[in-house]
Amino acid sequence: MSCSFSKDVIDRVIDYHGHSCPGLAIGIRVAEYALNELGHSSDEEIVAVSETDMCGVDAIQFLTGCTLGKGNFIHRDYGKNAFSFYRRRDNKSFRLLLNRKAYSGDEESPMTRLHLKRQEEGSLSPEDEKLLDQLRSQNIANIMNTPLEKMFSVGPADELAPRKAWILESLVCDSCGESTMESRTRRFAGKTLCMTCFNKVEQKI
Ligand SMILES: [Zn+2]
Ligand SMILES: [Zn+2]
Repeated sequence: MSCSFSKDVIDRVIDYHGHSCPGLAIGIRVAEYALNELGHSSDEEIVAVSETDMCGVDAIQFLTGCTLGKGNFIHRDYGKNAFSFYRRRDNKSFRLLLNRKAYSGDEESPMTRLHLKRQEEGSLSPEDEKLLDQLRSQNIANIMNTPLEKMFSVGPADELAPRKAWILESLVCDSCGESTMESRTRRFAGKTLCMTCFNKVEQKI
């Protein structure tokens, strides 16, 4: 089945993100799957862990209620299009791994080729720009129309549900004097330092 959100909802996601793009469309489908399985999270009941920080994370936050600010959206910088969700009340959880072939086929995408060309040559001809636009729109349509069960390989989430947001003490950095969450400070040469000051003094090269 194709995407079940109304056009109005999708338009609001696009507004929030700033533009329509394939990455955002992927995030919309991830959110759709999570909402179907676990429902919406107005508090910290549901936690999302994203292994990428691409465009799609805006759709996931906007639609599921798992947000960075509330502490129930966690980014792990692994560079994978994989998304885990946990529901605290019954420990229901799963991990979605994007199955790109389900909507773009086996071959190297002509879209990627054009992106690489633009990167190498600095710009594209007007014809190539137009072609890229068409390919991008087609790609978005494919993502929105692919059945969810084909879009993702669903497996077990590979870690326990992350703990609830914690209120931590703040320490004052001995170098800049700015108040810093204790768990983000470093001890160096007998001083307590914030990350910024630590990075300045701790130079391995
Ligand atoms: Zn985008
Ligand atoms: Zn500092």
